[in-house]
Amino acid sequence: MPKILVTGGAGYIGSITAHLLLRRGHEVVVIDDLSRGHRENVPAERLHVARLQDTGAVTELLAGVDAVVHFAAFIAVGESTREPEMYFSNNVGGSLSLFEAMARAGVHRLVFSSTAAVYGDPERVPIPETARIAPVSPYGESKAMVEKVLGELDRYRGLRSVALRYFNACGAEPEAGLGEAHDPETHLIPLLFRAAMTGEPIQVFGDDYPTPDGTCTRDYIHVGDLAEAHIAALEHLMAGGGSGAFNVGTGKGQTVMEVLRAVEEVTGKPVPYRVTGRREGDPTELVADSSKLRKTMKWEPRRSDIHEIIRDAWAYYALKFN
Ligand code: UDP
Repeated sequence: MPKILVTGGAGYIGSITAHLLLRRGHEVVVIDDLSRGHRENVPAERLHVARLQDTGAVTELLAGVDAVVHFAAFIAVGESTREPEMYFSNNVGGSLSLFEAMARAGVHRLVFSSTAAVYGDPERVPIPETARIAPVSPYGESKAMVEKVLGELDRYRGLRSVALRYFNACGAEPEAGLGEAHDPETHLIPLLFRAAMTGEPIQVFGDDYPTPDGTCTRDYIHVGDLAEAHIAALEHLMAGGGSGAFNVGTGKGQTVMEVLRAVEEVTGKPVPYRVTGRREGDPTELVADSSKLRKTMKWEPRRSDIHEIIRDAWAYYALKFN
């Protein structure tokens, strides 16, 4: 079985992917600086606490590694507009250090966490990978920059990489005790749970968008389906597959109000809300055309029905926050 280095493996999507890799019998090494990740998300003997900029530590960890799955990054769009230098330094700088160490260690396969945010406000949906790359936040820009670098490294270093452009990651693996626990939390589903539990209304960011109920549309993808996409990408690379960027989404959109109603159904609790102004930088509609991933890697979302997503996320929330 191949040996895989997972960067950012103590975070939300990273820990769930590392868990799946372990279950499938891979040898897994995790590097995480714990600036945002959680120590308890990784078996202690697998976790190495270090920054990617610590080239010595990373080079050592790369010994005997067949491929890297690179999650380590800051992910909050709003924060990135307030702290752009920090986002470029961490997301781009950290990646460059990792790629240098990989070149030195002779590791030439990489799966990279990218994002639908590279498309900014898209011209049409569903969005194919060939759509214009035009991020509207430093976060999205940092991911687009790393994708650009990967293009060059493919050409000049023979580094084969798959960039997975995630749409809205959500859901959890409650049996493994793994799920979404950001601080501060900015994501819709955990905030809907919080509103249901505390009675404190959630803010719905705008109801005057050109969608059926006026609220924004997003493509919500179960983190378990996302983790499977990483496994498929690794298999593609191990089989000698070439580099590319792939959307990971369901191809179906849900509005904020549809998700709110689904949370009410699953939890059996009313979710109080207040409509406020639009959030800066929120595109009206983000829906993936993920036919490239489906065709190339035989990947299919299996757990991304919105009710199933919310059931898993709710089970994790109850475990963690009650
Ligand atoms: N949203 C909202 N209120 C909140 C948080 C999010 O109305 O408190 C909306 C947001 O405008 C977007 C959707 O929920 O349309 C998903 O937002 P989230 O921050 O979860 O993910 P993003 O789409 O920004 O990656």
